Formats: sequence, structure tokens, C-alpha cells
Amino acid sequence: MGIKVAKFGGTSLADAGQICKVKAIIEADPERRYVVPSAPGKRTSDDKKITDLLYLCHATAKQQVSIDEVFDIIADRYLQIVTDLELQFDLKPHLQKIYNDIAAGASADYTASRGEYLNGLIMADLLGYDFIDAAEVIFFDENGRFDAMRTQTVISKRLAEHERAVIPGFYGSLPGGEVKTFSRGGSDISGAIVARGAAASIYENWTDVSGLLIADPRIVKDALTMEVVTYGELRELAYMGATVLHDEAIFPVRQAGIPVNIRNTNRPEDAGTMIVKDASPITHRGMITGIAGKKDFTVIVVEKALMNQELGFARRLLSVLEVNGVSFEHMPSGIDTISVVIADSQLNGKVDKIVSEIQTECQPDSVNVYRGMALIATVGRGMAYTPGIAAKVLGALGQANVNIRMIDQGSSEINIIVGVSNEDFERTVTAIYQTFVK
Ligand code: ASP
Repeated sequence: MGIKVAKFGGTSLADAGQICKVKAIIEADPERRYVVPSAPGKRTSDDKKITDLLYLCHATAKQQVSIDEVFDIIADRYLQIVTDLELQFDLKPHLQKIYNDIAAGASADYTASRGEYLNGLIMADLLGYDFIDAAEVIFFDENGRFDAMRTQTVISKRLAEHERAVIPGFYGSLPGGEVKTFSRGGSDISGAIVARGAAASIYENWTDVSGLLIADPRIVKDALTMEVVTYGELRELAYMGATVLHDEAIFPVRQAGIPVNIRNTNRPEDAGTMIVKDASPITHRGMITGIAGKKDFTVIVVEKALMNQELGFARRLLSVLEVNGVSFEHMPSGIDTISVVIADSQLNGKVDKIVSEIQTECQPDSVNVYRGMALIATVGRGMAYTPGIAAKVLGALGQANVNIRMIDQGSSEINIIVGVSNEDFERTVTAIYQTFVK
């Protein structure tokens, strides 16, 4: 029998009603042996997340102001959950201890982590699972960096001692025992660490959407969900701006080859998106996996006759960027031209200086700067070794009357990047989506 680790996000645990859905999901599959909860999130769009309230509590305490008002809101929410779930569990002593700790000047990390801690206690009681405090099994080193080796040794041993357990997300401990949290949204990372520690067959990440979408729904309304995506494809999409799981969250499971399944607590019947190490391109030939893009790039085009015969030209060009502390995204080139595509956020008003230094260093025939470019990546393992994909992308854009200013295909052949002007960004994404998906 395989082991499944199920992480539930804040909206999945926002109130007793949501928690009942979570319980039903866990009980539907005996392989769901380890559960990683977030803190209760928003119940409605204008509600407050418990984690935000806890940070507020800490800030209030720091100003030597009474925390009672904020803390009562937090305490009431948890007590309401316990009452609504009809649990016999007495949460009051735990709340009292946390109140005392915060009032006595506990750290921001400790304070924020109590959201997950309390939710973990409640979930363990509700499910009849053991409770494992994350501070005892997830470790950071003295520099505050996640200590993967120590964690893996301790957590794998500890999980093996518990048939079923709840491990709160978002935090671990420093070598001295103090609580330390991951960055915001860090329960995803905790879930991946637990999955790795349990040598799980799958890491289920339960949230409020039925998986990752093929394109940004703000651009393509009703965009479909990706069924299967590889870690490699995901990285390309995330890099181009798609909001997916944190790189850090993927890392522990990616290394161990454990697939991640993004699922929807409100629609457990949906299969969600499966993130895997390798997936056959054959089942997906000619298809794309996703589209992502970003606006606001600048292209510097450098032209010089017989550039191809000149030794060290590209090195001199790139060293100008390096000296100015500017990194570039792409470098499409022709026989006598090299272009560098740079994110505007990198340039910070340095364009004129860079252009003049390129003129001195490279003695080109011309240097031209084009601003306001958007980059759009069409990503898919099904594109590799399949003729006609680039033509299809270009054809779609031709039909949509979009002028392509740059095209770049990675050598892995799993992505094609086009550069268009910022104003054509949305039209480009839509045209590519419609050509491949519908
Ligand atoms: N509760 C934490 C946050 O709001 C961590 C998480 O939910 O993943 O950032």
C-alpha cells in the first residue's frame, strides 16, 4: 500500500464546514496517512487570514499595546471551529499559553506559526491521528537555512513510528530550538518535506482550484486545467510568470521523484493537475502544456558587419552588462547582429550608459534600443521532435495580426518564446491558446 501525504491550504480549513470536507477526503482513502494543515484562511474575500492576525498580534505586542482585542478574534475563530465540529477537545489551555508567550515578547516567527500549530491540534483530534510538532522534525541551520539532511534523518524515523499523523505546516526550528517559519505560503514546503520523509507515493496539495491552468484566467476566460505537467515544464512556466508552486516547495519531492497532485477540496471529484518527473511526450505529441508570459522587456540590438569573424565580440558585449550588474533573459543572434533581451526591472535607468559602453567596447555599426516588449512562452514536452509547432504559433499570431519582434526556441525544444509589443500581449496569449487548445 502506498503512502499519500495530503497538505491542505488555508481556504480548505477556513471553518468547520470546510474542515468537514477535508475529513471526508482523508477518510475516503486509507493511504492518506500524513496530513499537513495550513492555518485557517479567509472564509470570504473580505475576511482575515489567521496568519495575518497573528502577525498583527506580534506587532501590537511589540508596541507595548494590549493584544487582547486581536487575540480574542483569533481565539474566537478557533473556539468556534471546535464547537461547530462538536469536539470534546479543550483548546483553552493552548490558547492561554500562546497568549502569554506573545504578551511576553515571543518572536514573530513563533507567533505566526501558532496558526498552523493550533489547526494541527484540532485536525489530529478530529481525525484520531497522532500530532507531531513540526518543530521536532523540520530543522533550519544556524544561518536560518532549511537543513535538509538533518530533517530527512529525523522526520523519516519519526514518521515510521506513527501509522497516521498530522504535522502542522509553515514552520520548523533552529538549532537552539526556537521556532522558525518558512516564507509566506510555506506550508507547501512543509508538505513536500513530509512527503519526502514518508517516502510517499504521492504528495497531494489540496487547495481551492482544480489544478494549474493552461493560461492565465485573467486573459483566457475558462482556461482549461493541465492534466499532467513535468517539473521541467513547470519551471519554464513559473519563470515566465505563471503562478505555480514555489520552487522551494517542489524541490524536496522533485529530488525524490515523488509526483505532486494539485487538487480542489471543494471539488474532490476533479482529478486536478499531476506534476511528474517524466511524462511521455508521445501521449502528448503536438500539444502544448501551458502558456505564460511577462511584459516590460527592453531589447538592445547590436549590429556589425562580419561580426561572425570577430573573436570575442559576444564576450565584450556581455561583459558590459556584467560590469553594470545587469542580467539578460535571451540573446537571439543573426550573422551580423546580436540582441540582448533584458527585463526593465534589471535596467533601472542604465540603458544610456550601457549603450555608450557597448559602443566603446564593441565598435559596432549600430546599437538600437527597443522598449516595451512582452515575452510569451509556449511550453510543452509534446512540442519536442514534432514538426510544425513553430509554424502553428507563428500562423496563429499572423492571423491575429500580431507583429512578432523576436522568436527564440530553447534547445530542449520544450518551449518557444515570442517577443511582441506590450500592447499585443493579451492578444498573443489568447491566439496561441485558441490555436492549440480549442
Ligand atoms: N499560513 C501561512 C501563510 O499564510 C503559511 C501557509 O498557509 O502556507 O503564509
